[in-house]
Amino acid sequence: MFRGKPIHVKRDDLIDPCLSGNKFRKLYALTIADPSKYSRVISYGGNQSNAMLSIACLCHQKEWRFEYVTKTIPEHLRADLTGNLKNALSLGMQLREVSALEYEGVISDLKEKYPLYSAPVDQNQKTLFIRQGGADPLAESGVNVLAAEIEAWRVEKNIDFLSVITPSGTGTTAFYLAKALPGLSVYTTALIGTTEYLMKQLRQLGEIPQNLHFLETEKKYRFGNLYPEFFRIQNELKSSGVEFDYLYAPKTWLSLAENLDAINTQLLYVHSGGVSGNETMVARYKRFFERMGK
Ligand SMILES: *Cc1c(COP(=O)(O)O)cnc(C)c1O
Repeated sequence: MFRGKPIHVKRDDLIDPCLSGNKFRKLYALTIADPSKYSRVISYGGNQSNAMLSIACLCHQKEWRFEYVTKTIPEHLRADLTGNLKNALSLGMQLREVSALEYEGVISDLKEKYPLYSAPVDQNQKTLFIRQGGADPLAESGVNVLAAEIEAWRVEKNIDFLSVITPSGTGTTAFYLAKALPGLSVYTTALIGTTEYLMKQLRQLGEIPQNLHFLETEKKYRFGNLYPEFFRIQNELKSSGVEFDYLYAPKTWLSLAENLDAINTQLLYVHSGGVSGNETMVARYKRFFERMGK
């Protein structure tokens, strides 16, 4: 129950011990790939990214070399490695740090070398390049499996009208989910940047499906920042029995709360995982509330 309304939760966070939630879906095509298909994977993004840890874990299992490009990590993190970065490094990830100034250039060179819509394999080196956060057409087949599971569940439960909600970082999961489920409404909210920015990114994957809807919150939130209301809604959700992540889920639930009256179908929230980062986030909130003097 959430604010007086029953909401179903698809526990994709429990799907795989290595690849959490939607990272399993987005990387699914690789999980079933023959290990000999690749020898090296390159990706890039933030130094505590959930996608980074998932790719590191997958590459470890497949014995593929994994190179990850990120901006020079701050000294305090280097001195005391924590969270997803620590775990990914212990799985053999090779970190390639570049300065903030060089970063965009290095990434655009990589994108040029490994174009999105051509075969993703570099035949000589068996190198696979994965766009930040798995925002890659590679993700479609795995998200289609998720969509098929949702559809089978809907039929089994005799639910005629169903809406699905899931958070958007890159929006890849929401995009392919809406594409695969044209008969349902798919709701999402932009976590990184504005809705306009998200839509612009999504157009790189194709035309935005008509049934994909973007929810807003009255207040603007910055990705990665801490907000008392995020912590409060986390506790509210936890007391209803499910633990969610602190980066994506709180704003998604807040956007749902603000728009709940307008959605008059049954609702399914796809839990996209990310709970592995909670330990670090709880410690950050503890310091945050101490500074605020609460
Ligand atoms: C990675 C992640 C997302 C973002 O998924 P996209 O497909 O990039 O939109 C959302 N929620 C959690 C918990 C994640 O780890």
